[in-house]
Amino acid sequence: MILAGLTLEELENLMSELGATRFRAKQIHNWIYAKSVSSIDEMTNLSKDFREQLKSIAAVTDTKIKVKQVSKDGTIKYLVEYPDGECVETVLMRFDNRANLTACVSSQVGCAVNCSFCATGKGGFRRNLNYKEIIEQVLTIQRDTGLKVTNIVFMGQGEPLLNLDNVLKALEIFNNDFQIGARRITISTSGIIPGINRLAEMDLQSTLAISLHAPGHDLRKQIMPIENKYPLNDLKKALLDYINKTGRRITIEYILIHGFNDTPQVAKELAYFLKDIKCNINLIPYNSVVENDFKKPANSDIMKFKYLLEHSGKKVTVRLERGADIDAACGQLRGRGK
Ligand code: SF4
Repeated sequence: MILAGLTLEELENLMSELGATRFRAKQIHNWIYAKSVSSIDEMTNLSKDFREQLKSIAAVTDTKIKVKQVSKDGTIKYLVEYPDGECVETVLMRFDNRANLTACVSSQVGCAVNCSFCATGKGGFRRNLNYKEIIEQVLTIQRDTGLKVTNIVFMGQGEPLLNLDNVLKALEIFNNDFQIGARRITISTSGIIPGINRLAEMDLQSTLAISLHAPGHDLRKQIMPIENKYPLNDLKKALLDYINKTGRRITIEYILIHGFNDTPQVAKELAYFLKDIKCNINLIPYNSVVENDFKKPANSDIMKFKYLLEHSGKKVTVRLERGADIDAACGQLRGRGK
């Protein structure tokens, strides 16, 4: 049995099966989630006999770090390996001006959505991660760095809304067991409408981020095949309904690709598409992946695009480039680890 991923209640049930007190469950819970140990031997406030008893039926984790890369800017990228040999990427991002430590987690091994700018999409879909495998990514970071993750973004490999049950269960554990507030967690989607509709009916405090990347059907379908299944007009209706029901502001993620979707004309179309959507906009200058021809825009084009959107009354940020000297774009490290 693997202890990481068990809730306090599940640990209490386990203790009662072993004839131990409920207090033991609290101690073990603290070792797993607050102190992030990787072995039962490190749980030094448990008696040696009890540790031996526990070791005969359980281990803390069965997940390994297969590759680790550290960027000059402090970003750390991990290739995490599960017992069946499948791997996903997890990234720890730090920002100099903030105390936040943000984990970018994966929700699936590979991805079926196949966005043309994404290295993960190229490899196709392999399988869903279960909720324990999702939380193991954050524990892996905490164990390796000795630091406590404060924010989580579901922006790694996979489409979270195509594995929503496991994502929601992981979110509950991040909340209750890691004590990471729901407002510090962002779920990012390529626009899976049934998943957005489901979230609209829930009282979640987390932020919903939409990977939009183009304001028109014809442009968007060139880089995101999902546009054929869930076209922008339907997506917009689902977003308005979500905002109306939850009262929450969403985030629009927009990858800027040189000469494709970064022109002043497209900026105006984007402002028009978003005019009645309560949102902040996050511009992401493209991070080049070797296997395609997309390029990062010039800084002057990024600033012009930003200015035109701000002019429409939206709050716009440009995402700082993290890990430029390592394989930081989604899917690149997995490609290398294989
Ligand atoms: S960008 Fe996200 S949704 Fe698109 S293929 Fe990559 S992992 Fe999948």
